[in-house]
Amino acid sequence: MIGIIGAMKVELEALKARLQDVTVTRISGVDFYSGKLHGTDVVAAVSGVGKVFSAVCAQTMVLKFGVKAIINTGVAGGLSPNLKLGEVAIASQVCQHDMDTSGVGDPKGLISGINKVFIDADPLWVAKAEKAAQKLGIHTETGVIASGDQFVCDTDRKAWIRDFFRAEAVEMEGAAIGQVCFVNEIPFVVIRSISDDASGHAPVSYESFFKEAAQRAVALTEEMLKEA
Ligand code: SAH
Repeated sequence: MIGIIGAMKVELEALKARLQDVTVTRISGVDFYSGKLHGTDVVAAVSGVGKVFSAVCAQTMVLKFGVKAIINTGVAGGLSPNLKLGEVAIASQVCQHDMDTSGVGDPKGLISGINKVFIDADPLWVAKAEKAAQKLGIHTETGVIASGDQFVCDTDRKAWIRDFFRAEAVEMEGAAIGQVCFVNEIPFVVIRSISDDASGHAPVSYESFFKEAAQRAVALTEEMLKEA
């Protein structure tokens, strides 16, 4: 079974409508929709926004549904000049830009315990995402996606995240899902369509564009599963 997580309802609506033989299970306030999507067994859920909700959702998929991989689909702020609105960032790695124990001598972004700043997404799922995007004619950039509990809409913060972590895009869940997958030894990938540029204009751009961007990411996720 493959897990599919969107932080917000709009990020999963289209996909949920196409699930067949659906069973809904409510756990920790989240509805898990299990069923078949293009012949593949999946469980899809709207986790809620931010690292805590998305981690709870991912861990539940592992423990209660025995998922063998997790796809995180949704929208993000673009950091790379090569990503325009609607285009897609695919994570080869994720990191947490708001994880900071540098006060006790650690590198910024270090996740103590596992002692990593970057967690690798699964190369096979990354390749599947790239192939699906090519088929749909969607431009993608594969690289680091940075997550944190912050809607980034500030040029200085944006520049810092881009420069320090070499990140292509910034959002609020992917790296939490990645960390859960890492400790459970489960492959994952994060696919994010650009809704805004994480600058001072981001709130306006996000409001007018997030629905369209979310649909783009979910279309790509579906295309990947057709190949699965
Ligand atoms: N209260 C709002 C919060 C949305 S936050 C709501 O529930 O609808 C923005 C969402 O889009 C997050 O899930 C995040 O992953 C993503 N996102 C898009 N642009 C972003 C940006 N510039 N910075 C951080 N996250 C962003």
